[in-house]
Amino acid sequence: MTTNIILLGPPGAGKGTQARKLVEERGMVQLSTGDMLREAQASGSEMGKKVAAVMAAGQLVTDEIVIGLIREKLEQGSEGGFIFDGFPRTLPQADALGDLLTAMGAKLDAVIEMQVDDEALVQRITARSTCGDCGEVYNDITKPIPADGKCSNCGGTEFKRRADDNEDSLRQRLMEYYKKTSPLIGYYYAKGDLSSVNGLGEIDAVQAEIAKILG
Ligand code: AMP
Repeated sequence: MTTNIILLGPPGAGKGTQARKLVEERGMVQLSTGDMLREAQASGSEMGKKVAAVMAAGQLVTDEIVIGLIREKLEQGSEGGFIFDGFPRTLPQADALGDLLTAMGAKLDAVIEMQVDDEALVQRITARSTCGDCGEVYNDITKPIPADGKCSNCGGTEFKRRADDNEDSLRQRLMEYYKKTSPLIGYYYAKGDLSSVNGLGEIDAVQAEIAKILG
């Protein structure tokens, strides 16, 4: 079955973690514009260079760039459907996504808002690291890197911290979220697509709530 969903929530809400679970369980494809932009930076492309400073400052890159990235990925198709993670982040992006899906004869099945409180976000983000090989997410306090220094998912030994996972960038990212992204909650509510989960729960509990929504 093809299911297309948006995971909506502030930085650190757990969108990436839950998206990875859905990829494993349902064969969906995760479309994280943040990951795509970091890959562009790592590859040294012109676009990557252009967005580096904006991302480090915690601001949003232009709608044109991220919509272009999403359009390219949608063209590749997905049997299991797509998980939009960190996209859309503005109303023009939301409109563009609707148009792209309609043009493909597809639709959104659910928009899942992951609710968390801001203090928890600061704690999560400043303690976050990921496996450089498989992207498994760790937290210094709640889910430390195993004592043997090997990723519990893939055995990798390289771990990364994001350049923008510091308190200053996070505050700016939160500001962008409240100014530009949170209006999407009302937008999708009005369309009848919105469901909410408690993003503060354990990973498995959040996963179960999402599974219930997707049926
Ligand atoms: P994320 O990995 O989703 O936290 O995204 C990291 C950074 O990439 C954000 O702080 C933005 O600078 C940029 N970014 C990611 N997705 C978008 C988007 N949909 N619109 C604009 N900027 C984005």
